[in-house]
Amino acid sequence: PEKLGRGSAIPRDVTAWEARGEVYLGLTRFAALNVQRQEAGLESLANPRNATAGTLKTIDSNEVARRGLSVFLYQLFPLDADDQPGDDVFSDHRGELAALAELGLPVNPFLEVADSADGIIRHLEKLQQLRDGLDYQIDGAVIKVDSRRGQQALASTAKAPRWGLAFKYAAEEAETCLREITLQVGRTGVITPVAELDPVLLAGSTVSRATLHNWEEMERKDIRRGDRVVVVKGGDIIPKVLRVITAARTGDETRIPRPRQCPVCHERTSQQEGEVAVRCVNPLCPAVLSGRLRLFASRDACDIDGLGGRSIDMFVAEELVAGPADLFRLPRATLAALPGWGEKSADRLLAGLARVPDRPWEARIFALGIPQVGVNTARTLATHHASVASMVATTAEDLADLPDIGPVVGAAIEAFFASDGGQHLVAQLSKVGFFQEREEQPPPPAREGEGWFAGRTFVLTGTLEGMTRSDAKRAIEKRGGKVSGSVSRRTHVVVAGARAGGKLDKARKLGLEIADEEAFAARLAEEG
Ligand SMILES: [Zn+2]
Repeated sequence: PEKLGRGSAIPRDVTAWEARGEVYLGLTRFAALNVQRQEAGLESLANPRNATAGTLKTIDSNEVARRGLSVFLYQLFPLDADDQPGDDVFSDHRGELAALAELGLPVNPFLEVADSADGIIRHLEKLQQLRDGLDYQIDGAVIKVDSRRGQQALASTAKAPRWGLAFKYAAEEAETCLREITLQVGRTGVITPVAELDPVLLAGSTVSRATLHNWEEMERKDIRRGDRVVVVKGGDIIPKVLRVITAARTGDETRIPRPRQCPVCHERTSQQEGEVAVRCVNPLCPAVLSGRLRLFASRDACDIDGLGGRSIDMFVAEELVAGPADLFRLPRATLAALPGWGEKSADRLLAGLARVPDRPWEARIFALGIPQVGVNTARTLATHHASVASMVATTAEDLADLPDIGPVVGAAIEAFFASDGGQHLVAQLSKVGFFQEREEQPPPPAREGEGWFAGRTFVLTGTLEGMTRSDAKRAIEKRGGKVSGSVSRRTHVVVAGARAGGKLDKARKLGLEIADEEAFAARLAEEG
C-alpha cells in the first residue's frame, strides 16, 4: 500500500483482499480445445458455458490450468486479520472497479456509467452491436446502481440484491426446412430425436441440427419431417426448434412415430410410466455400452490414459468388452494385435488401467454412471459412504438426509444399486479390484440422544449478526461441541454467517452439514 500515489482508488490501510467475479472460457480457446479433443478421439465440449462449469469441477488442477479459463472481476472485499470479509470501503461501484483495475486484475472494459435511462438504453444498444465481435458469448448485460448508499437503500431480496438487474437480449431466430429426423442413443439408453435442417445462419454460426428433446415435446409442437420450422438459439450453442410454420405445410409432411426398436441394436424399446424418455434397455447395445465406457474412462471419472473414444468404439464393435470391468481383462496380446495399436499402445493402456484403483473415491463413484449422479453428487456420496457396501445398503430415505441430494436423485441411486445391471457392474468391478477401501474415514456420527452439539466439531465462518464469534464458540462448547478453525473431512457442521467465503465453499465441496445463522440460533435455543 505504501507505493500507492495520490488519488489512488485503493485505500491505504488494507493489506489483504478477496475479489469475486465470473469465470468464462474464451471462444478462441474453446474452439482450440475442441480441435485438440477431436484429435485425441474425445467428444467435443458442447458449449463454453458448460465447459467452464465442468472445468471448475475438475479434480486435476493441471487440467484446469491447461483449459485456459479467463475471468472478469467485479467485487472486492478487504479481509480482516481472520481472513473474513470486512466492512465495505468503497462509496460507489465504480470506485470498487477502479481499485480492481489498479490492482492489475481483469475488469470488463465495456463498463459505462450512465446518468439517465436513455444513457443506459444507448449503452445496451452499443453492446448489442459489439456482441458478435466479442471472444465470449453474452446474452445480455447487468445494470447496477452505482452509489453504495443507493444500493443500501434498495437492499436485497432473499435471492439477489435489488440494486442490480440482468437485461437479456431477445434470442435470435431463423427459419429453415426440417429435412429429416434422426435418432441418437445415449449412454443411459435414452433415444433422442434430432432435427436435420437445411443449413441456416443463426446468431453468427451455421446451424444444421437441432435437438427435439423427446417425443412428448415433438408431439406437443406437432413437428413433422418436411416442415418449415423456426429455430432459436438461447444461451447455449445447441439450437432448438421453437415452432412449426403450419401455414407453409403442403400435406407431404410426415409424423415420426416413437421408435419400437432401438436404431442401433434393433432390440425393443421401453418407456416407463410417468417418464417422457423412450429407452433402449439392452445393456449390451453398442451405443449404450460405448457411452458408458466413455464416461468410465473420462477425465472426471477413471481418467484412463491411452483409452480414447475411437478405441472404445472399436472394442465395442469387436465385442471385446461387455462392460467396464472387461477393460481390466483385455489380454496384452489381443490389444497389441488391434489395427493401429502395437505393444507400445497396449502397455500404455494397461498402465493406465493399473492406476484406476488409485483414483479418488469420488471419481470412481462418478465412473459408475449412476443415473442422476454427476461429479458433485458423487463427491457427496464419497464423503458419506466410505465403501461400496455402504452405498449398496443405503436407502433413498437415508440419502435424502445428505446435502444436495433430493428425493428424485436419492431414488435413482437406490434403484441403481438394486437393479440387476447395477449389481452386476458392482460385482464385476469388485473382482478386478476397482473398489479398494479408502484410507481416510469420514468422521464418526454424532452419538444418539445427546443432541446436535455433543461430540461434534464445528467451524464458524462469515459474520454472525446476533452474536460475536467468541459467544458462539462458548455456546457450542457449553453444549458439548468443539470449535475448530479450519474445515476438513473431520468437521461435522459449518456455521455460515453473512458473507461467508472460502470455508463455506470448501464445506460444500466436502458435502458437510451447513447451518445458517437462523438454523444455528434455533439449535442453540432447542438445547439452551
Ligand atoms: Zn440399442
